[in-house]
Amino acid sequence: MTTEEKTQRCLHHAERLLAAMGGSPEGWSFTGDVVEGDPEKSRCACGHPIRWEFQWKHEDGRTLVTGSVCVENLPLIDRMIVEAMRAALVKAIQVREEAARKARAASLDAEVDALRTELRGLIEEKFGWAIRSAEAIGSAWIPHDVYSALRTSEYYRCELRRSRTLKTPRGQAECIRSAIRAFRTRFQGDGA
Ligand SMILES: [Zn+2]
Repeated sequence: MTTEEKTQRCLHHAERLLAAMGGSPEGWSFTGDVVEGDPEKSRCACGHPIRWEFQWKHEDGRTLVTGSVCVENLPLIDRMIVEAMRAALVKAIQVREEAARKARAASLDAEVDALRTELRGLIEEKFGWAIRSAEAIGSAWIPHDVYSALRTSEYYRCELRRSRTLKTPRGQAECIRSAIRAFRTRFQGDGA
């Protein structure tokens, strides 16, 4: 598409948007709300697909949704509105990124919990009976194999590191994963 064609198309969209506004942008204002749309369904009032839905309201109560581009081609459009739309979009993107970051952190936390459960399960399966036998006779003594297992598996090292330098869930997950590998290599022979 040539620049000329693009310009024509843009103006065509602006005309349709203007029509949707009842012939003039007068009385219309951007509400300040912009929401992420559905790529399959979201349409500007002019008809073209949009990613972000900008909410507009007329003094008489009418509402419509636009994208950010063809609005700029409207005659008599208030530049303040265009600036407000840009600022609202920046904010909306920041909010979305923050939500995505929180979701990633939550899924990493869940992964760490699952790995820790797996490691504890391995230790329980192999040495749970020995630990409980020692406890049953009132001994604080831990069977050498258990002690060795805990050390070899880096289980304690993990737990210690977690409270000291392993601040991130990603680092914790990696540490516990290596502990699981070490435990399997040492006691199950299938870690290689
Ligand atoms: Zn449009």
